[in-house]
Amino acid sequence: MRTFDYSRPGDPQQAVIQHQHADSAAYLAGGTTLLDLVKLDVMQPAQLVDINPLPLKQIEPLSDGRLRIGALVTNTDLANHPLVREHYAVLSEALLAGASTQLRNKATTGGNVMQRVRCSYFRDGISPCNKREPGSGCAAIKGNNRNVHAVLGTSEQCIAAHPSDMCVAMAAIGAKVLVSGPKGMREIDFLDFHLLPGNTPEKEHALGDDELITHVILDAPLKGSRSSYLKLRDRTSYQFALASSAVILTLSEDGKQIREARIALGGVGTKPWRAKEAEAALMGQPAQITTFEQVARLAFKEAKAYSQNAFKIPLGQQAIVRNLRDLTA
Ligand code: SF4
Repeated sequence: MRTFDYSRPGDPQQAVIQHQHADSAAYLAGGTTLLDLVKLDVMQPAQLVDINPLPLKQIEPLSDGRLRIGALVTNTDLANHPLVREHYAVLSEALLAGASTQLRNKATTGGNVMQRVRCSYFRDGISPCNKREPGSGCAAIKGNNRNVHAVLGTSEQCIAAHPSDMCVAMAAIGAKVLVSGPKGMREIDFLDFHLLPGNTPEKEHALGDDELITHVILDAPLKGSRSSYLKLRDRTSYQFALASSAVILTLSEDGKQIREARIALGGVGTKPWRAKEAEAALMGQPAQITTFEQVARLAFKEAKAYSQNAFKIPLGQQAIVRNLRDLTA
């Protein structure tokens, strides 16, 4: 049995200091990923810094129209908050499509941003896995890669898909991640937070050493927009996305033309995947199926399929087409 130290700091600065002073430390929030991985011996922190006492549980509208979410706001509270339901329907829907009620009651906003991949080779602790043990290889490339592996943003080192639904909605909305660290506070653009695997799949995010996520600030909602999250999976609950889309749209007054569009994809990318080229191609175009099919193809033009997941390319395109069709109907 491995032992570890445990501490409960009273404020974010103390948390950072306690994290800094341990050889290998991890911040503990809801624990829905971390405790699993500790029990599986995939993560072996020498110290758990329990941040649950920190005052990071508020959802506050800012004077410039943005919404600040504390890192410890649970997925359930965020999904059901009146401002989120009214102005960020895509986020509420994405959260409610994720995991189970019990997990959503524990999982936090910051923890969801930091969610680790669901690749079984990463979690089994023994297979070759460059993410868990750099340089050991990637068992998924020629192995079981149907469900939780990507077709966009992959590398020869790692093809695991980012598993979060919430992050896909945040990528579409636009957000900043606020972090506190040894050098003070800083902001990271949400689209820059998660990193592509490239040659360093063990480095998953832009956090520096000992930095702690304190808040996520959502961009102000697009005026007059409508939005939706569509998740396609083998069964309709408690299942990761095979492909998903978060779409936010504004239409012309007669509803026949797309004025502005934001599209992000889940289940198919190694990070929450913003489809900017597809968005640009939609602007000013008629809201019709042929347009939607064209931009969906564009979103996957760089896709690379592996032995069992080629079906994700047409499925991901369908996730875009159906979401656009339903939002413009
Ligand atoms: Fe590891 Fe990534 Fe390969 Fe899975 S896909 S075995 S996480 S390197």
